[in-house]
Amino acid sequence: MAIILDGKKTANQFRETLARQVADFAAETAVIPCLAAVLVGDDPASQVYVRNKQSACSQAGIASRLLRLPAGVLQTELLDEIERLNHDPAVHGILVQLPLPGHLNTQQILDAVDPSKDVDCFHPDNVGRLVQERPRFLPCTPHGVLQLLQAYQLKTAGKHVVVVGRSEIVGKPMAALLMQKNGPLGADYANAMVTVCHSRSGDTSNILRQADILIAAIGQPQCIRGEQLRPGAVVIDVGINRIATGLVGDVDFESCAEVASAITPVPGGIGPLTVAMLLDNTLRAARLRTKH
Ligand code: NDP
Repeated sequence: MAIILDGKKTANQFRETLARQVADFAAETAVIPCLAAVLVGDDPASQVYVRNKQSACSQAGIASRLLRLPAGVLQTELLDEIERLNHDPAVHGILVQLPLPGHLNTQQILDAVDPSKDVDCFHPDNVGRLVQERPRFLPCTPHGVLQLLQAYQLKTAGKHVVVVGRSEIVGKPMAALLMQKNGPLGADYANAMVTVCHSRSGDTSNILRQADILIAAIGQPQCIRGEQLRPGAVVIDVGINRIATGLVGDVDFESCAEVASAITPVPGGIGPLTVAMLLDNTLRAARLRTKH
């Protein structure tokens, strides 16, 4: 039976350390890091995510602002608001809660965020820097995965890591971090041999069975089963899917926990770490501004 990788506990420990770093930073600079969240429309899940992020900010001593805009906001109006936040010296990090309503051009909105305030690490400048191993920010969910692996000393160097999913938010930056030489958490938590699978990969059963570490970021409830894994594999389930019985991941927890050596639960796995890493980026952004 697999050990459970407790993302909530790891995130809480990270947040305690971060709160001390924020307090030290504020004492040195008299600056309170501030995150501005932009929420368009009234999607219930997005409202919950934003509320959680704001409450996490306040527990870490980070100020937060919420800019709520109606679902029908025009592209130009939203761009103007982003521009205002870009120029506001009291705002260090800007996050645009996704998804945006369909009439808006999401790419153009995300590209409009000042790269030095881009705490989600979505801007092409920041993605490019990440790929070249000189990051300004770290992508929140992939960084959270590395923090969890490190907390349990599950090294990635020399391991075959299979990432299922190639989104800009999870799969791609996850693969980019894992294949680095030095890595933000050190060489032991980089230097993986990475295979990325996606919806056009065809039959992936041979690939999945070779994974020392499997990272699922697919968005399909419980679609990876224990029979597909190599015995003793480490399973990181990034997926969050709402089904009739509640929230489930992209892996079938029961059957995978029988075969794996370690596995993340959903909820309580990568989700809490993603929020913690957003706080980390907000402090980084404030340090960038003040050069501390
Ligand atoms: P996307 O929908 O953007 O990407 C899903 C990826 O999975 C795509 O690359 C897609 O391939 C691939 N895919 C879809 N079906 C299959 C399949 N049957 N076999 C192999 N690959 C497949 O999702 P995200 O990356 O944004 O999110 C993935 C999951 O993670 C979601 O459940 C989301 O809710 C969750 N999530 C959780 C976070 C957390 O904090 N825990 C943070 C962000 C996301 P293709 O590119 O070919 O379409």
